[in-house]
Amino acid sequence: MKTYQVDENGYYGEFGGAYVPEILHQCVTVLQETYLNVLNSESFKKEYYQLLRDYVGRPSPLYYAKRLSEKYGCKMYLKREDLNHTGAHKINNTVGQILLARKMGKTRIIAETGAGQHGVATATVCALMNMECIVYMGKTDVERQHINVQKMKMLGATVVPVTSGNMTLKDATNEAIRDWCCHPTDTFYIIGSTVGPHPYPDMVARLQSVISEEIREQLMEKEGRDYPDTLIACVGGGSNAAGTIYHYIDDKRVRLILAEAGGKGVDSGQSAATIQLGRKGIIHGARTLVMQSEDGQIEEPYSVSAGLDYPGIGPVHANLAVTKRATVLAVDDDEALEAAFELTRLEGIIPALESAHALGALPKIKFQPDELVVLTVSGRGDKDIKTYIDYFNNKSK
Ligand SMILES: *Cc1c(COP(=O)(O)O)cnc(C)c1O
Repeated sequence: MKTYQVDENGYYGEFGGAYVPEILHQCVTVLQETYLNVLNSESFKKEYYQLLRDYVGRPSPLYYAKRLSEKYGCKMYLKREDLNHTGAHKINNTVGQILLARKMGKTRIIAETGAGQHGVATATVCALMNMECIVYMGKTDVERQHINVQKMKMLGATVVPVTSGNMTLKDATNEAIRDWCCHPTDTFYIIGSTVGPHPYPDMVARLQSVISEEIREQLMEKEGRDYPDTLIACVGGGSNAAGTIYHYIDDKRVRLILAEAGGKGVDSGQSAATIQLGRKGIIHGARTLVMQSEDGQIEEPYSVSAGLDYPGIGPVHANLAVTKRATVLAVDDDEALEAAFELTRLEGIIPALESAHALGALPKIKFQPDELVVLTVSGRGDKDIKTYIDYFNNKSK
């Protein structure tokens, strides 16, 4: 059977693989040979699910959004990842990876972060497990994301400002990979999304697949059937989307819609719509779609949402897009901001700016009146309040 899941060589169609420097070859190979055995073991599952329940606060609710449903003429449920500990889906992944790191005998944790959400989620589990934590973060982002930097420090992590390139996420990731090359034996690199060399995209998707596992059970309980007609999620690197669609990826009854960040417009030169603008290339160890210039230099992405401005995309999503299994919509800054206010006023939920891109796709989609839709609210909007206030003040001027 044709599947959209990873194959035994670490590829999704023509995307994926593990393009790493020689010095990391062995430690990536060991990880490839280890991760499935650990993730599928009873002892891992017991600890992982216990922490998801008692520490993260799972299962996250599947909430029937009545007023949003009326507005868009369908039956819309929201998967509430915003209610997790630390405010987003990212913690599902860091809990899993740190348990794996411990089982592999690693003593030192490194991570990259853009907006700081993955950095905070990693620093959190490192505090929990009493592990050393080093977070690489572009200097520009360190300055922009002051609160998250303070949180990481309070949690005991060392935040290293990166001054190469544009001093943002791509550069922080390069620096984390460089660190990993220097400490391949004692260090575990916790990657924050479905990106990086195989097995990371598949590993992160599996650790986030608790989202679709719960959707299945919750829909069964509420609707008497265990699948929706349509799933909607935003994509930066792709982890909340991968978790949302995981158990439905090969189920053709389910329509998949991915919302990427259009920035100031796909053709404006200030965009992060990687799937539409990207060409095939290699970034951070994987073959995928990459925003790049004619001669293959990586181009700087832009989005109002710091969590979505990555110049690559998970290989699973690149494959879903080129095979047309998923519909990809670009949602611009303004559309996302409007959608954030709409959700707030209709349902009393202030979403993260990233999640607002999924909501901003709704006006672009045609629904049937009885269509069962699940949209993942990947995080809460606390971190974005300043952006929301500025937008609101500008508008009412
Ligand atoms: C980091 C982040 C994203 C983007 O990352 P994905 O890996 O694409 O999910 C989306 N929403 C929130 C709230 C985030 O913090």
